[in-house]
Amino acid sequence: MLTCHQVAEGATEYMEGAAPPMRRLGVWAHLRVCRNCREYLRQLSRTIGLARRALVPPPAPEVEDGLAAIFAAQGRPGAAE
Ligand SMILES: [Zn+2]
Repeated sequence: MLTCHQVAEGATEYMEGAAPPMRRLGVWAHLRVCRNCREYLRQLSRTIGLARRALVPPPAPEVEDGLAAIFAAQGRPGAAE
């Protein structure tokens, strides 16, 4: 059985699905019995979710140019509404 410390340590990897299967199983088993870690992962997933949304990479320059052309054709930027 993993310790809370081990779960916390590999939490990001686990949530990204990057952890090896045995590790995932260990974390899963731990979460079944440990409310603290369940709560911790829930909070972390919320945080990561927010961070992901904030860190969406900007579009490639050619996409940006294409959008600029579309907006220009419509008269003004952001006129999609
Ligand atoms: Zn725990």
